[in-house]
Amino acid sequence: MKFYSTRDRSNLADLKLAVTKSLTSDGGLYLPERIDKLSPEFFKKLPELSLAEIGFEVSKLILDEIPEEDLKRICDDALSFETPLVEIAPDTYSLELFHGPTMAFKDVGARFMARLLSYLLEDKEQEVHVLVATSGDTGSAVASGFYNVPGIRVTILYPSGGVSAFQEKQLTTLGGNINALEIDGVFDDCQRLVKEAFADADLKRERRLTSANSINFARLLPQSFYYFYAVGQLMKNNKPIVISVPSGNYGNLTAGVVAWKMGLPIHHFVAASNANNVVPRYLETGKYEPGKSIATISNAMDVGSPNNVERLQDLFGHSLDELKKMVKGTWFDDEATFASMQKVWENHEYMLDPHGAVAYSGLEWYKKTIDENVQGIFLECAHPAKFDETVFKATGIEPPIPEHQKHVLTKPKRAMMMSKNFDEFKDWLLHDDGCSC
Ligand SMILES: *Cc1c(COP(=O)(O)O)cnc(C)c1O
Repeated sequence: MKFYSTRDRSNLADLKLAVTKSLTSDGGLYLPERIDKLSPEFFKKLPELSLAEIGFEVSKLILDEIPEEDLKRICDDALSFETPLVEIAPDTYSLELFHGPTMAFKDVGARFMARLLSYLLEDKEQEVHVLVATSGDTGSAVASGFYNVPGIRVTILYPSGGVSAFQEKQLTTLGGNINALEIDGVFDDCQRLVKEAFADADLKRERRLTSANSINFARLLPQSFYYFYAVGQLMKNNKPIVISVPSGNYGNLTAGVVAWKMGLPIHHFVAASNANNVVPRYLETGKYEPGKSIATISNAMDVGSPNNVERLQDLFGHSLDELKKMVKGTWFDDEATFASMQKVWENHEYMLDPHGAVAYSGLEWYKKTIDENVQGIFLECAHPAKFDETVFKATGIEPPIPEHQKHVLTKPKRAMMMSKNFDEFKDWLLHDDGCSC
């Protein structure tokens, strides 16, 4: 399988290049040349398969150059936690993706990518330096997923004051091969710094840089696995399935579309955003107008210029009409998000984090305005304890922190403060000696 650029179908790369480079040479994103359908036998046994087993069957289609036993080991090792589907009301299901080591769905992509990258670099040539811009959850998942992986160093860029206290602890307390840079700017500044670094000729020569953001296809592919898992649980009911995805950079939604292209019976997606509503507006008006990001209580979705829209457009043959047939867009401000958190707690005793609340609201909107006779799944992408202040305000209850995370709070923060000026970042990358002090 080769991977093409969303900007030029004839610009091809093999798997190793696609994963170690992230961005194509023309500034586009990689997609696999073919997305084949899975077999009827696979769908028949799907309801019985574990996440790791699904991962193996699905990734075989795309990562066909990796020997099956190696791929199986990568899947078993990366996908070692549960993603339960919980019915919170009739035909309303929460797909809980927060049971991994950093309590967010990004663990799925980051753990898979770390193992795949390390595998592809088995010959351990020059060290690979992973750059990752984060609005909160990506950084901690990548830090945890890549921690102590040989041959890989990680630098996390996060917006100063733009992540929760708990998230900051997760980002800045590991040390070892993980560096944290606290950028005096917003998430979009972090993302721009990373993009500029990839485009810089000096850095290209001197450093082997890659990204662990959802621009990297190795992070995107594993996010399709849990769509299969969830739909597999509901296929027996013979009612159309709608999935509401809380969206920021649209990697998660794109992964769902990949699963659908592989034959997974999904009726519609809901692209649910917060006030950073560039995609819902695009679906409504046909005008794509990326802008600056706006701070909200669902901060992992505060993205003004989402990367994966380019992939979505490509997957729908650059036809807005085709995209609109499958993806319905809506958005909610903080007030509406907060109200959903309160309502779901009061009516169903289910605790939503602010991102899950946006997704839940998106599903409610779909049932009210498009079709109520569906089975709805919303993705619950982060553990409520990651956003304890907001959750406490909405429910009056302090969400309990899982045992395996408590130690994070007692560790000292280690981050370097940096301006949003590219020259300073570049200078640091060129002279950084690997010490995370
Ligand atoms: C990253 C994140 C999102 C947004 O996912 P995208 O793939 O960037 O659209 C939503 N919710 C949570 C909790 C996240 O961490």
